[in-house]
Amino acid sequence: SEHKTPLQTIDGNTLIAMCLSRAGVEKMFGVVGIPVTSLANRAVALGIRFISFHNEQSAGYAASAYGYLTRRPGILLTVSGPGCVHGLAGLSNAAVNAWPMVLISGSSEQGLTGRGDFQELDQIAAVKPFSKFSVKATDVSKIPTCVFDVIDWALAGRPGGTYLDVPSDVLRQRVEESEAEKLITEALNSRKNELIEKPRVSNSEIHKAVDLLRKAQRPLIVFGKGAAYARAENALRKLVESTGIPFLPTPMGKGLLSDTHELAATAARSLAIGKCDVALVVGARLNWLLHFGEPPKWSKDVKFILVDISKEEIELRNPCLGIVGDAKDVLETIHKEIKDDPFCLGKTHPWVESIKSKAKDNVAKMEVQLAKDVVPFNFMTPMRIIRDAILEMGSPAPILVSEGANTMDVGRSVLVQTEPRTRLDAGTWGTMGVGLGYCIAAAMASPDRLVVAVEGDSGFGFSGMEVETLVRYQLPVVVIVFNNGGVYGGDRRNSEEITGPYKDDPAPTSFVPGAAYHTLVEAFGGKGYLAGTPDELKSALSESFSARKPTVINVTIDPYAGAESGRLQHKN
Ligand code: ADP
Repeated sequence: SEHKTPLQTIDGNTLIAMCLSRAGVEKMFGVVGIPVTSLANRAVALGIRFISFHNEQSAGYAASAYGYLTRRPGILLTVSGPGCVHGLAGLSNAAVNAWPMVLISGSSEQGLTGRGDFQELDQIAAVKPFSKFSVKATDVSKIPTCVFDVIDWALAGRPGGTYLDVPSDVLRQRVEESEAEKLITEALNSRKNELIEKPRVSNSEIHKAVDLLRKAQRPLIVFGKGAAYARAENALRKLVESTGIPFLPTPMGKGLLSDTHELAATAARSLAIGKCDVALVVGARLNWLLHFGEPPKWSKDVKFILVDISKEEIELRNPCLGIVGDAKDVLETIHKEIKDDPFCLGKTHPWVESIKSKAKDNVAKMEVQLAKDVVPFNFMTPMRIIRDAILEMGSPAPILVSEGANTMDVGRSVLVQTEPRTRLDAGTWGTMGVGLGYCIAAAMASPDRLVVAVEGDSGFGFSGMEVETLVRYQLPVVVIVFNNGGVYGGDRRNSEEITGPYKDDPAPTSFVPGAAYHTLVEAFGGKGYLAGTPDELKSALSESFSARKPTVINVTIDPYAGAESGRLQHKN
């Protein structure tokens, strides 16, 4: 007969989905539309879960945090032009926090470049400041290499954001199925080893590090989210417990070793960093969060031993000793070296005793403040109630998402982290508006854990509509909004700064007083609570922590309780 079997062909959409699946991608975040809707559908058909958001900004924050929590790049899919631009929020956040993430954006027809095509933008140029690596798949045959490259680059060395540009004509272009398989195999076989290999740790540097620690009078171990990312918790515990050296986590390092550990210097932070003579800093940058490692916060004679995957980071800080390597590998090697000739400060060592007694005093002072039931709520009273409710849950501890000025500041000192990678906050960039995206990422990364967000009403408002996403996927997320009616606090119209014809407008810092944020989630079938007293808050927490359903608890805070810029007034 005349009938011929048509060749089995697939299009660019399917080929990208196949490559993502082959690279081990399990989840994707994004907003669909022209030209990437089919790409999302094909990914789902291949077993990848696609979490669909209202706004690329929030989806991008989710992808970045998912990369941090899982150690696999979080994938963000967006449409062209404006979709890509909104996605830059997530990409830049990943870059600054050193989290692996891949932005994949559709782009306009290659043949129409420069003529004002639908959503046309030079996206490769737009992503440049925020990506370690970017590439445009100019032809369907190039897709496999491009996909594996963006993934490998996101993970290589210091993790970060990468970008894949897929023109709409390439998404439609077809290739024979057998040819596609061949292209995938070839691309897999030519993955670049230099991207995948870990740096080797040099013995002489380990030797020097151990020597410095051994001779130190007042040693301190500082660790950050790079150590958390490296899964260095067991190696850290062994090192801390065998040497008796006190430790200090950065905000997101909290939980790697429990805040309740007897060698935790968190509550004696100023003393620890002000007086230590040797600081082993692991997976944490000596940036603003650590006062650049300089006086007056640090002693001018402190000897830093920096452990970082990034050689550039070590060169930038120019420490007494720098060790380029993976935090877990380096700590294990240090521990092994010490084991051959052990030393331990012991409980009665003056340095250890001074830190412990300072921490005890500071905790006692804070507990006095926390013990009071202040109504209308200040920040302390509800934070104590939340802390106790979280601690009562035991293990697995919930993942805590924290943002806002005062809410995050107070939360950082009051809330207790007992398990690794259970805290996500505004991070290196102080990014506000990350909360809902981080909640969704956390729920996707750790399905066995409850997710609890404690955020200001301002932080919540950036992406409040994503509560619908929580309900749609029925995620076990409880969002607690500290509602003081504005940024830093409620209406400050009386501020001397505000004069002129619009002085009677609501102040730039203020929102509608008494906003009913809890009803927002109810609009979609979630559960909302309004809590203005300790009893109301306790019962809302106890119900929602056991229900594990999408919930918003709107906590009424005194509009005058917050300080402008939280604890960062001096940066104003
Ligand atoms: P924090 O905010 O907790 O202080 P930073 O984000 O400033 O932490 O620093 C994290 C550091 O960890 C970065 O400099 C990054 O290069 C580094 N890092 C990332 N992955 C690893 C790893 N596997 N081993 C060691 N260091 C790492």
